[in-house]
Amino acid sequence: MSVVYPPNDLASDAVNQFIARSHKLYIDGEWQTPTEEGAITVLDPATGMPIAKVPLAGREDVDRAVKAARTAFEEGPWSRMTPIERSKYIWRLADLIERHAGELAQIESIDAGKIVAVTQIADIPLSAAMMHYMAGWASKVDGETFSFNRPGEYHGYTLREPVGVAALIVPWNFPLVLTCFKLGPALAAGCTVIIKPAEQTPLSALRLADLVSEAGFPNGVINILTGDGPTSGAALASHPGVDKISFTGSTEVGKGILRAASGNLKRVTLELGGKSPMFVFPDADLDKVIPGCSSAIFFNQGQTCTAGSRLYVHRKVYDRVVAGIADGVRSLVPGHGLDPATSLAPVVSESQATRVARYIDLGLSAGAEAVVGGSRLEREGYFIAPTVLANTHGDMAVVREEIFGPVLTAMPFDDDTDLDTLAAIGNDTPFGLAASVWTTNLSTAHKMARRLKAGTVWLNTHNHYEPAAAFGGAKESGWGRECGIHGVHLFTETKTVIAAL
Ligand code: ADP
Repeated sequence: MSVVYPPNDLASDAVNQFIARSHKLYIDGEWQTPTEEGAITVLDPATGMPIAKVPLAGREDVDRAVKAARTAFEEGPWSRMTPIERSKYIWRLADLIERHAGELAQIESIDAGKIVAVTQIADIPLSAAMMHYMAGWASKVDGETFSFNRPGEYHGYTLREPVGVAALIVPWNFPLVLTCFKLGPALAAGCTVIIKPAEQTPLSALRLADLVSEAGFPNGVINILTGDGPTSGAALASHPGVDKISFTGSTEVGKGILRAASGNLKRVTLELGGKSPMFVFPDADLDKVIPGCSSAIFFNQGQTCTAGSRLYVHRKVYDRVVAGIADGVRSLVPGHGLDPATSLAPVVSESQATRVARYIDLGLSAGAEAVVGGSRLEREGYFIAPTVLANTHGDMAVVREEIFGPVLTAMPFDDDTDLDTLAAIGNDTPFGLAASVWTTNLSTAHKMARRLKAGTVWLNTHNHYEPAAAFGGAKESGWGRECGIHGVHLFTETKTVIAAL
């Protein structure tokens, strides 16, 4: 599909040339033309202007990709290769991501509206780190031996075998990072995959396809289909040839995927929404709390599933913390993510901007007070002023529902609120993704960590991810864990072997 859009003057020639390409689907090791005419227009969130057209994969395209992945899985060479050989491919892809870091950082910035200095230090290094880390696991996906009731008469062990063809459905907030969170463990386990990036942010996945090809992966091991949710994503979720779905996105869509996946009882991993609380105790180091809690909510414009969106601060330090967070974001400069002067980036789309602005209005009309921000910016693109809402309470929609934007709700607590009560307030949500506790008291920190119902509890930090640290949610924040060996295991099936001696 070749449509010519003006190049971005702030981007490199290589990036502009890549974006201006006639984009296709990456199936069975080659660029293939989609069967149907459908296309997605990709917009630059900083301007709202179209920058590219990419194919919208239809049912037949999904079918072709699934067949390619199935053949690669069943007939080799991927599945017959030694684990160390597989490990080398994953490592090579990780190296290539690193080698093309500058270009990928720009692509991610243009496509998702991120500040390029951030994609350079966060998105791209984390993507490469995840692949490097997972390369090591490929040769260590071990089963176990176990004890028998009548030792000596029987012997047994388990094997961890790859589950098969995995569909990786990725959201728009961290396009390349979350692709690698799924791709790394899937490949380490020995699966073959079909990646579907979000319709808003398909570009880094298309560039990744070039790198997959350069790394020399056998045909069909990694297929990449651009497309939307209702057509392309839904076709993957219900496809009888797909054995496993790994999905990151909204809780609503996650539940739909679960229903669609029930046809052949696919294995399903879901990493869904959150409404993560942060607790600041009066003994905390406020020099760390203020920037830490600010970045917890405002990093990536609040479009982080673990965003610290509910702030509970001891009344003794409440005013200082809230004022400090508000002061830190008052003078941010909105602009294009590629412009070095920019310190405030847009949210991803018009519909996100509308949704976030609607939530802010809901909060204000319910009696919340905007300490800073409180509205959409009047300019081109999808900019929302970083917003801190005070006078909020647990019954308000802004406190209960996931906004997925730069909106912090702040609430004080007093000495008479004990840890059990405080944790119960934090846990009073359908979500259970993450939480953070800010204190210099070890006992408070670890007691709170036990009491909070969340997949991750951070102590004196927030939004810190590690390739080795299990990541996922309790309650309606999801099923299963990504990262570490936990992530690899969820792309395997356990086989038990029992022998009579
Ligand atoms: P958000 O609500 O944050 O935009 P979504 O949960 O809608 O995120 O989307 C995350 C990913 O899920 C995207 O790749 C999107 O295309 C895909 N998706 C959306 N709807 C469906 C669906 N019904 N079936 C499968 N995938 C879907």
